[in-house]
Amino acid sequence: MIRGEPSRGEHTLKGIPASAGLAIGKAVVLNVATGSSTPERIAPHEVEAEVSRFRVALEAVVAELVRASELARSESATVSSIIESFLLIVGDPIVTQSICERIGAGASAEAAVIAEYDAAKGTLVMANDPFLRERVQDFEHVKERVLAMLRNATLAHSVASDSIVVAGSITPQDMLFFKHSKTLGFVTEVGGINSHACILARDLSLPAVIGIRSATTEIVSGQTIIVDGFAGVVVVDPDEATLLEYVRRHHELAEHRKRLGELIGQPSQTSDGVGVKLYVNVDTPQQAVEAVMQGADGIGLVRTEFLLVQQGRYPTVEEQEEWYREIALRAFPLPVTFRAFDVGSDKFRIGIPHHEDNPALGLRGIRFLLFKPDVFEQQVCAVLRASANRNVRFMLPMVSVIDEVVQAKAVIERCKERLRAEGVDHDPNMPIGIMIETPSAALMTESLAASVDFMSIGSNDLTQYALATDRTNELVADIYDALHPSVLRLIAFVVDAANKMNKPVSLCGELAGHAIASEMLVGLGLHEFSVSPALLLELKSRIRATTHAACVERAKAAVFQSSTADVYTVLSQGRP
Ligand code: PEP
Ligand code: MG
Repeated sequence: MIRGEPSRGEHTLKGIPASAGLAIGKAVVLNVATGSSTPERIAPHEVEAEVSRFRVALEAVVAELVRASELARSESATVSSIIESFLLIVGDPIVTQSICERIGAGASAEAAVIAEYDAAKGTLVMANDPFLRERVQDFEHVKERVLAMLRNATLAHSVASDSIVVAGSITPQDMLFFKHSKTLGFVTEVGGINSHACILARDLSLPAVIGIRSATTEIVSGQTIIVDGFAGVVVVDPDEATLLEYVRRHHELAEHRKRLGELIGQPSQTSDGVGVKLYVNVDTPQQAVEAVMQGADGIGLVRTEFLLVQQGRYPTVEEQEEWYREIALRAFPLPVTFRAFDVGSDKFRIGIPHHEDNPALGLRGIRFLLFKPDVFEQQVCAVLRASANRNVRFMLPMVSVIDEVVQAKAVIERCKERLRAEGVDHDPNMPIGIMIETPSAALMTESLAASVDFMSIGSNDLTQYALATDRTNELVADIYDALHPSVLRLIAFVVDAANKMNKPVSLCGELAGHAIASEMLVGLGLHEFSVSPALLLELKSRIRATTHAACVERAKAAVFQSSTADVYTVLSQGRP
């Protein structure tokens, strides 16, 4: 696409607030092809570099598929043959040549890939043979993978430090690039606030606004922009007065964070003495140190799949053990909860045999791990090896039926036996927990509780599945809200059932850090939370400023409402 002239002078774009904070800096607009943004054409002198960018991406996709095919070979001949057919498509020299020719004629790599694969799909759709028609999905899958690789390569090269990224969409992998390149914040055209990229942004304290549909056409690289992650707006080309006002607010925010620092070491309890344990969610060993320094009671969630996102593959047992051990040691003696790889849906997808029409309802979390017992066993062994200091807990994601818990525990027991036989020190009583993040698990809490040592409510997914609303889709963002009474009632049900069974239950989804929800959640009977490191002290200050009686009152008022809007109204009453 040849871009039109951007509008001049200060103007404000409205989006969805995805990660709180303020960022002021120069925009870097990433014109990568996703479903929603069209790539630009390239100049003749860029052809050579563009062809090699395409070839690098293609090779990376081949390597990824070869790894997936190795994993699949021992499991299923069908799966293996599907991956082989992807490999045939991606390795087809005629297709590769044709894409290079399109680039030679001035198309960007993304445009050439889309045009070529779409043309092939067009031919297949017309075919009389139903087998050939089914191959359309394979071409679509391969196209998506090549585009994703191109996208990551683009990000790695074009994002300078101290810039604000503006893109069609952002993946969790992209976020890791941003972390390394000291990006100040980001703006996207699509995405839901609880997509994993947004959660990572909040963990990394990167201000973000999403869902500005025209972002990559209205903003040009080099323009000064302000990302207001509180209000969900982006100010483009701010005039002097606006800029000064935001610089003042930026300083104020830094002062506020400093004041919160004074709460480190203060007890986490309501003003009338009801204690609440505060844990943090971490994605890296460095964040484990931060958790200790902020006075957390432990680490309530390590999303181990970020190790996969970082490496782009399944690490060996030794590599995993080293990573888990480092986190456990840095947090020692505080407890650390490693969650088994939550692969699938909008996260890491290597090893998932083929395209899924509904990935959030497909081979995700514990379902994938039981489908790939070798991947699961390797992770369990690595976590057990890291448990020698007795501060490690292990948690299963996306549980929906009890058989999954039974089968997972059998795998864990097998791994313990193996380590025992090898004389490897580990914790034989390592606590095993589950995420409660499907309505089925919530309603079956009592039965599930009998089989596990602890539970943690994943409100991000519980909301997605209770409201049947994709957490990554901004088109349904107005429905996706953890404060909907259906979600609150499920939480209340889980807490009551867990208490009845005398099993600890925490909440580790984003709702735990929601500014107006804390009192209500304590009132529902939750006394353990796990939040992003950046939110720990905010949450502590809110808990210390209230009484238990006030919490119970808020909970009672909230759960009986009939809409999200009504819940917001009752929870906002009496607040500034
Ligand atoms: C959740 O679903 O609330 C959760 C904590 O897990 P994730 O966000 O990683 O899916
Ligand atoms: Mg989840």
